[in-house]
Amino acid sequence: QKIKEGLLKTRENLTSKIDSIVTIGRKIDEELLEELEEILILADIGISTTSKIIEGIRQKAKERKIYDASQIKELLAEEVYEILQKDVEPFTLTSPMVILNVGVNGVGKTTTIGKLAYLYKKEGKKVMLAAGDTFRAAAIDQLEIWAERVNCPIIKHQEGSDPASVIFDGIQASKARGIDILICDTAGRLHNKKNLMEELRKIRKVIDREYPEARVETFLVLDATTGQNALQQAKIFKEVSDITGIVLTKLDGTAKGGIVVAIKSELNVPIRYIGIGEGIEDLQAFDAKSFVSAIFQ
Ligand code: GDP
Repeated sequence: QKIKEGLLKTRENLTSKIDSIVTIGRKIDEELLEELEEILILADIGISTTSKIIEGIRQKAKERKIYDASQIKELLAEEVYEILQKDVEPFTLTSPMVILNVGVNGVGKTTTIGKLAYLYKKEGKKVMLAAGDTFRAAAIDQLEIWAERVNCPIIKHQEGSDPASVIFDGIQASKARGIDILICDTAGRLHNKKNLMEELRKIRKVIDREYPEARVETFLVLDATTGQNALQQAKIFKEVSDITGIVLTKLDGTAKGGIVVAIKSELNVPIRYIGIGEGIEDLQAFDAKSFVSAIFQ
Protein backbone atom coordinates (compact mmCIF):
# COMPACT_ATOMS: atom_id res chain seq x y z
CA GLN A 1 0.00 0.00 0.00
CA LYS A 2 2.78 2.35 0.95
CA ILE A 3 4.57 1.63 -2.28
CA LYS A 4 1.42 2.58 -4.19
CA GLU A 5 1.36 5.96 -2.49
CA GLY A 6 5.08 6.42 -3.04
CA LEU A 7 4.74 5.76 -6.74
CA LEU A 8 1.58 7.76 -7.22
CA LYS A 9 3.14 10.41 -9.47
CA THR A 10 4.73 7.84 -11.74
CA ARG A 11 1.51 5.89 -11.82
CA GLU A 12 -0.48 8.96 -12.82
CA ASN A 13 2.07 9.88 -15.43
CA LEU A 14 1.94 6.46 -17.04
CA THR A 15 -1.42 4.98 -16.36
CA SER A 16 -3.68 7.94 -16.93
CA LYS A 17 -1.92 8.69 -20.21
CA ILE A 18 -2.21 5.09 -21.33
CA ASP A 19 -5.86 5.01 -20.36
CA SER A 20 -6.44 8.11 -22.46
CA ILE A 21 -5.14 6.47 -25.65
CA VAL A 22 -7.08 3.26 -25.08
CA THR A 23 -10.44 4.40 -26.37
CA ILE A 24 -13.31 1.98 -26.92
CA GLY A 25 -12.98 -0.16 -30.00
CA ARG A 26 -9.38 0.79 -30.64
CA LYS A 27 -7.03 -1.92 -31.88
CA ILE A 28 -3.40 -2.64 -31.12
CA ASP A 29 -1.82 -1.28 -34.28
CA GLU A 30 1.29 0.67 -35.22
CA GLU A 31 -0.37 3.99 -34.48
CA LEU A 32 -1.27 2.93 -30.95
CA LEU A 33 2.21 1.53 -30.36
CA GLU A 34 3.71 4.80 -31.49
CA GLU A 35 1.59 6.72 -29.02
CA LEU A 36 2.53 4.30 -26.28
CA GLU A 37 6.18 4.69 -27.21
CA GLU A 38 5.96 8.42 -26.70
CA ILE A 39 4.33 7.99 -23.29
CA LEU A 40 7.05 5.60 -22.14
CA ILE A 41 9.86 7.88 -23.28
CA LEU A 42 8.25 10.81 -21.47
CA ALA A 43 8.10 8.70 -18.31
CA ASP A 44 11.89 8.35 -18.44
CA ILE A 45 12.00 4.75 -19.53
CA GLY A 46 14.53 5.85 -22.13
CA ILE A 47 14.61 5.42 -25.89
CA SER A 48 16.40 2.08 -26.18
CA THR A 49 14.48 0.39 -23.37
CA THR A 50 11.23 1.73 -24.77
CA SER A 51 12.00 0.26 -28.21
CA LYS A 52 12.67 -3.08 -26.58
CA ILE A 53 9.38 -2.94 -24.70
CA ILE A 54 7.37 -1.93 -27.75
CA GLU A 55 8.89 -4.76 -29.78
CA GLY A 56 8.05 -7.20 -26.98
CA ILE A 57 4.44 -6.02 -26.90
CA ARG A 58 4.15 -6.23 -30.69
CA GLN A 59 5.34 -9.84 -30.62
CA LYS A 60 3.25 -10.94 -27.67
CA ALA A 61 0.12 -9.39 -29.20
CA LYS A 62 0.80 -11.23 -32.45
CA GLU A 63 1.57 -14.59 -30.85
CA ARG A 64 -1.42 -14.51 -28.59
CA LYS A 65 -3.67 -12.96 -31.19
CA ILE A 66 -4.53 -10.03 -28.96
CA TYR A 67 -6.05 -7.24 -31.00
CA ASP A 68 -7.95 -5.15 -28.53
CA ALA A 69 -6.23 -2.04 -27.20
CA SER A 70 -7.78 -2.53 -23.78
CA GLN A 71 -5.20 -5.22 -23.14
CA ILE A 72 -2.16 -3.08 -23.85
CA LYS A 73 -1.56 -2.23 -20.21
CA GLU A 74 -1.32 -5.88 -19.21
CA LEU A 75 1.13 -6.56 -22.02
CA LEU A 76 3.18 -3.56 -20.98
CA ALA A 77 3.20 -4.62 -17.33
CA GLU A 78 4.39 -8.05 -18.39
CA GLU A 79 7.25 -6.61 -20.44
CA VAL A 80 8.35 -4.33 -17.62
CA TYR A 81 8.20 -7.19 -15.13
CA GLU A 82 10.36 -9.35 -17.39
CA ILE A 83 13.01 -6.63 -17.62
CA LEU A 84 13.06 -6.07 -13.86
CA GLN A 85 13.23 -9.78 -13.07
CA LYS A 86 15.78 -10.84 -15.67
CA ASP A 87 18.86 -12.47 -14.10
CA VAL A 88 17.97 -11.20 -10.63
CA GLU A 89 18.66 -13.44 -7.66
CA PRO A 90 16.68 -12.49 -4.56
CA PHE A 91 18.58 -10.44 -2.01
CA THR A 92 19.09 -12.20 1.30
CA LEU A 93 20.95 -11.08 4.38
CA THR A 94 23.95 -13.15 5.38
CA SER A 95 26.49 -12.57 8.08
CA PRO A 96 29.10 -11.18 8.11
CA MET A 97 28.42 -8.71 5.37
CA VAL A 98 29.89 -5.37 4.33
CA ILE A 99 27.75 -2.96 2.36
CA LEU A 100 29.55 -0.16 0.55
CA ASN A 101 27.35 2.72 -0.46
CA VAL A 102 28.47 4.82 -3.37
CA GLY A 103 26.83 7.74 -5.13
CA VAL A 104 27.20 11.48 -5.60
CA ASN A 105 26.31 14.01 -2.90
CA GLY A 106 22.70 14.89 -2.48
CA VAL A 107 21.21 11.68 -3.87
CA GLY A 108 20.16 10.52 -0.41
CA LYS A 109 23.12 8.30 0.43
CA THR A 110 23.33 9.13 4.14
CA THR A 111 19.57 8.84 4.60
CA THR A 112 19.62 5.48 2.81
CA ILE A 113 22.36 4.18 5.12
CA GLY A 114 20.29 5.20 8.13
CA LYS A 115 17.18 3.55 6.71
CA LEU A 116 19.10 0.37 5.87
CA ALA A 117 20.53 0.20 9.38
CA TYR A 118 17.02 0.58 10.78
CA LEU A 119 15.66 -2.13 8.49
CA TYR A 120 18.41 -4.61 9.27
CA LYS A 121 18.19 -3.99 13.00
CA LYS A 122 14.49 -4.64 12.78
CA GLU A 123 15.34 -7.98 11.20
CA GLY A 124 17.45 -8.79 14.23
CA LYS A 125 20.88 -8.03 12.76
CA LYS A 126 23.70 -6.34 14.60
CA VAL A 127 24.59 -3.32 12.52
CA MET A 128 27.52 -0.90 12.54
CA LEU A 129 28.15 2.19 10.42
CA ALA A 130 31.49 3.42 9.07
CA ALA A 131 31.82 7.06 8.05
CA GLY A 132 33.94 6.52 4.95
CA ASP A 133 33.01 9.83 3.34
CA THR A 134 35.81 11.73 5.02
CA PHE A 135 35.76 14.44 2.38
CA ARG A 136 32.99 16.42 4.02
CA ALA A 137 32.67 17.01 7.76
CA ALA A 138 28.91 17.35 7.26
CA ALA A 139 28.72 13.82 5.89
CA ILE A 140 30.32 12.46 9.05
CA ASP A 141 28.00 14.52 11.29
CA GLN A 142 24.91 13.46 9.36
CA LEU A 143 25.82 9.81 9.60
CA GLU A 144 26.38 10.18 13.31
CA ILE A 145 22.89 11.60 13.72
CA TRP A 146 21.49 8.54 11.94
CA ALA A 147 23.56 6.21 14.12
CA GLU A 148 22.00 7.82 17.19
CA ARG A 149 18.52 7.68 15.73
CA VAL A 150 18.85 4.02 14.83
CA ASN A 151 20.85 3.29 17.94
CA CYS A 152 23.77 1.51 16.37
CA PRO A 153 27.54 2.00 16.76
CA ILE A 154 29.50 4.14 14.31
CA ILE A 155 33.19 4.27 13.44
CA LYS A 156 34.42 7.67 12.32
CA HIS A 157 37.64 9.58 11.87
CA GLN A 158 38.30 13.24 11.35
CA GLU A 159 37.48 15.02 8.12
CA GLY A 160 40.23 14.55 5.56
CA SER A 161 41.49 11.24 6.92
CA ASP A 162 41.99 8.17 4.75
CA PRO A 163 38.63 6.49 3.96
CA ALA A 164 40.29 3.07 3.73
CA SER A 165 41.56 3.42 7.29
CA VAL A 166 38.03 4.20 8.54
CA ILE A 167 36.81 1.03 6.86
CA PHE A 168 39.78 -0.85 8.33
CA ASP A 169 38.76 0.25 11.82
CA GLY A 170 35.14 -0.56 11.07
CA ILE A 171 36.14 -4.11 10.14
CA GLN A 172 38.21 -4.63 13.29
CA ALA A 173 35.41 -3.26 15.48
CA SER A 174 32.84 -5.41 13.66
CA LYS A 175 34.87 -8.54 14.30
CA ALA A 176 35.45 -7.63 17.93
CA ARG A 177 31.77 -6.94 18.58
CA GLY A 178 30.27 -9.70 16.47
CA ILE A 179 28.57 -7.31 14.06
CA ASP A 180 26.51 -8.91 11.29
CA ILE A 181 26.38 -6.04 8.83
CA LEU A 182 28.86 -3.20 8.46
CA ILE A 183 27.36 -0.40 6.37
CA CYS A 184 29.94 1.97 4.93
CA ASP A 185 29.55 5.44 3.51
CA THR A 186 31.97 6.54 0.79
CA ALA A 187 32.63 9.86 -0.94
CA GLY A 188 31.16 10.13 -4.41
CA ARG A 189 33.18 12.72 -6.22
CA LEU A 190 32.41 11.95 -9.82
CA HIS A 191 34.31 14.91 -11.22
CA ASN A 192 37.53 13.00 -10.62
CA LYS A 193 36.92 9.54 -11.95
CA LYS A 194 40.46 8.34 -11.43
CA ASN A 195 40.56 9.35 -7.76
CA LEU A 196 37.15 7.83 -7.13
CA MET A 197 38.20 4.57 -8.71
CA GLU A 198 41.42 4.46 -6.72
CA GLU A 199 39.65 5.26 -3.47
CA LEU A 200 37.05 2.54 -3.99
CA ARG A 201 39.71 0.08 -5.08
CA LYS A 202 41.76 0.79 -1.98
CA ILE A 203 38.74 0.29 0.28
CA ARG A 204 37.93 -2.95 -1.48
CA LYS A 205 41.49 -4.19 -1.04
CA VAL A 206 41.31 -3.53 2.70
CA ILE A 207 38.04 -5.46 2.98
CA ASP A 208 39.32 -8.41 0.94
CA ARG A 209 42.52 -8.56 2.98
CA GLU A 210 41.10 -7.95 6.46
CA TYR A 211 37.70 -9.54 6.18
CA PRO A 212 37.81 -12.31 3.56
CA GLU A 213 34.95 -14.13 5.27
CA ALA A 214 32.60 -11.20 4.72
CA ARG A 215 30.30 -10.95 1.73
CA VAL A 216 30.64 -7.55 0.08
CA GLU A 217 27.79 -5.70 -1.58
CA THR A 218 28.27 -2.39 -3.36
CA PHE A 219 25.10 -0.34 -3.58
CA LEU A 220 24.91 2.59 -5.94
CA VAL A 221 22.48 5.18 -4.60
CA LEU A 222 20.72 7.22 -7.29
CA ASP A 223 18.17 10.03 -7.11
CA ALA A 224 15.15 9.11 -9.23
CA THR A 225 14.08 12.75 -9.60
CA THR A 226 17.12 13.35 -11.81
CA GLY A 227 15.77 10.93 -14.44
CA GLN A 228 18.15 10.28 -17.31
CA ASN A 229 20.94 11.92 -15.34
CA ALA A 230 20.74 9.08 -12.83
CA LEU A 231 21.26 6.65 -15.68
CA GLN A 232 24.37 8.54 -16.78
CA GLN A 233 25.76 8.44 -13.22
CA ALA A 234 25.05 4.73 -13.03
CA LYS A 235 27.02 4.11 -16.22
CA ILE A 236 30.05 5.96 -14.85
CA PHE A 237 29.95 4.25 -11.45
CA LYS A 238 29.61 0.89 -13.13
CA GLU A 239 32.81 1.62 -15.04
CA VAL A 240 34.81 2.45 -11.92
CA SER A 241 33.45 -0.06 -9.42
CA ASP A 242 31.80 -3.39 -9.06
CA ILE A 243 28.20 -2.35 -8.39
CA THR A 244 26.07 -5.25 -7.14
CA GLY A 245 22.83 -3.39 -6.51
CA ILE A 246 21.01 -0.11 -7.01
CA VAL A 247 19.07 1.97 -4.52
CA LEU A 248 16.74 4.50 -6.14
CA THR A 249 15.71 7.28 -3.80
CA LYS A 250 13.01 9.96 -3.90
CA LEU A 251 10.58 7.99 -6.03
CA ASP A 252 7.82 9.63 -4.01
CA GLY A 253 8.74 13.02 -5.38
CA THR A 254 8.79 12.24 -9.06
CA ALA A 255 6.80 11.13 -12.07
CA LYS A 256 10.06 9.79 -13.50
CA GLY A 257 9.78 6.37 -11.86
CA GLY A 258 10.24 4.81 -15.28
CA ILE A 259 13.95 5.39 -14.72
CA VAL A 260 13.90 2.24 -12.56
CA VAL A 261 13.13 0.25 -15.68
CA ALA A 262 15.72 2.08 -17.81
CA ILE A 263 18.49 1.52 -15.27
CA LYS A 264 17.78 -2.17 -14.84
CA SER A 265 17.43 -2.71 -18.57
CA GLU A 266 20.56 -0.82 -19.61
CA LEU A 267 22.91 -1.85 -16.79
CA ASN A 268 21.48 -5.20 -15.84
CA VAL A 269 22.23 -4.55 -12.17
CA PRO A 270 19.41 -5.47 -9.79
CA ILE A 271 17.41 -2.73 -8.11
CA ARG A 272 17.63 -3.65 -4.42
CA TYR A 273 15.81 -0.87 -2.55
CA ILE A 274 13.63 2.11 -3.31
CA GLY A 275 13.23 5.27 -1.25
CA ILE A 276 9.68 6.54 -1.07
CA GLY A 277 9.93 9.28 1.56
CA GLU A 278 12.19 11.03 4.04
CA GLY A 279 11.17 8.99 7.09
CA ILE A 280 13.17 6.18 8.63
CA GLU A 281 10.71 3.56 7.41
CA ASP A 282 10.47 4.92 3.89
CA LEU A 283 12.84 2.47 2.29
CA GLN A 284 11.52 -0.71 0.77
CA ALA A 285 13.20 -3.83 -0.49
CA PHE A 286 12.53 -3.72 -4.20
CA ASP A 287 10.10 -6.26 -5.47
CA ALA A 288 9.40 -6.29 -9.21
CA LYS A 289 5.90 -7.61 -8.76
CA SER A 290 4.72 -4.95 -6.33
CA PHE A 291 6.48 -2.25 -8.32
CA VAL A 292 4.71 -3.25 -11.50
CA SER A 293 1.34 -3.54 -9.81
CA ALA A 294 1.84 -0.20 -8.06
CA ILE A 295 2.33 1.61 -11.34
CA PHE A 296 -0.02 -0.29 -13.65
CA GLN A 297 -2.91 -1.62 -11.60
P1 GDP B 1 23.52 12.60 0.59
O1 GDP B 1 24.19 13.91 0.35
O2 GDP B 1 23.53 11.75 -0.64
O3 GDP B 1 24.02 11.88 1.78
O4 GDP B 1 21.98 12.94 0.79
P2 GDP B 1 21.09 12.96 2.12
O5 GDP B 1 20.95 11.61 2.67
O6 GDP B 1 21.59 14.02 3.03
O7 GDP B 1 19.68 13.35 1.51
C1 GDP B 1 19.45 14.54 0.79
C2 GDP B 1 17.98 14.93 0.94
O8 GDP B 1 17.15 13.98 0.29
C3 GDP B 1 17.50 14.94 2.38
O9 GDP B 1 16.68 16.06 2.56
C4 GDP B 1 16.70 13.66 2.53
O10 GDP B 1 15.68 13.74 3.49
C5 GDP B 1 16.13 13.53 1.15
N1 GDP B 1 15.79 12.14 0.80
C6 GDP B 1 16.56 11.03 0.85
N2 GDP B 1 15.88 9.95 0.43
C7 GDP B 1 14.62 10.35 0.12
C8 GDP B 1 13.43 9.70 -0.38
O11 GDP B 1 13.37 8.49 -0.65
N3 GDP B 1 12.34 10.49 -0.58
C9 GDP B 1 12.36 11.84 -0.32
N4 GDP B 1 11.25 12.54 -0.56
N5 GDP B 1 13.45 12.48 0.13
C10 GDP B 1 14.57 11.75 0.35
